[in-house]
Amino acid sequence: MSKPLTIAIDGPAASGKSTLARRLARALGYLYFDTGVLYRAVTWAALQRGLAPDDPAAMTHLARSLRIEVRPPSRDDGRSNDVWVEGQDVTWAVRAPEVDRWVSVVAAHPGVREALKAVQRRIGRQGRVVMVGRDIGTVIMPDADLKIYLDASVEERARRRYLEAQGRGETVSYARILEDLRARDRLDASRAVAPLRPAPDAVVLQSDGLTPEQVFERVMALVRQRNSAPAEQRV
Ligand code: C5P
Repeated sequence: MSKPLTIAIDGPAASGKSTLARRLARALGYLYFDTGVLYRAVTWAALQRGLAPDDPAAMTHLARSLRIEVRPPSRDDGRSNDVWVEGQDVTWAVRAPEVDRWVSVVAAHPGVREALKAVQRRIGRQGRVVMVGRDIGTVIMPDADLKIYLDASVEERARRRYLEAQGRGETVSYARILEDLRARDRLDASRAVAPLRPAPDAVVLQSDGLTPEQVFERVMALVRQRNSAPAEQRV
């Protein structure tokens, strides 16, 4: 084997997973797939249709029936992919604060997770992919060649989100962002099915005090290491 062909990146919200994964995918020529958009798309559609995000049967039915498409970016407006739901471009709509607030409730329903599993596995099986989420190394691609669990303190993650929001000219308070992240962490880590946690064979990277560049370099070093190590020494 040469380079790891499947790379799983998990971790809490705003830990820098997407930035890392995008850079890795670009450097290696792999597909970047952010699985959070699938849960976001279902949540967005539920809110649009006035359905209750905490209704397991309604959410499972919606996740099974919704036509979600994730495609290469069609516009140069900062998006990494296009996200379409039932023929409508919802790439930015799925990032709305209202979706942030409800997505972890929707993602906790076992039926929703089951419905979204097939598409994620299909993409994983194609190889040459960097897949990002919460349960990629534990559930979706337990055989991934390289698993990274990217962590950072909740204060550091809130600070990053706050600066991003300020950069976009949005008026949100740091305290609100911190509170929302804590709530999302709690829901993601405590749910019964596929809770957020590192896979036993994941490399855990704590990114407080590291720049995105440093995080990327550390992971690229792991990629190179796996590339050159004899098979029996690979973990
Ligand atoms: O990564 P992102 O913040 O876009 O994910 C939104 C939410 O989707 C997460 O907080 C989590 O509840 C859910 N999610 C998940 N499993 C994944 C990806 C996302 O449960 N693999």
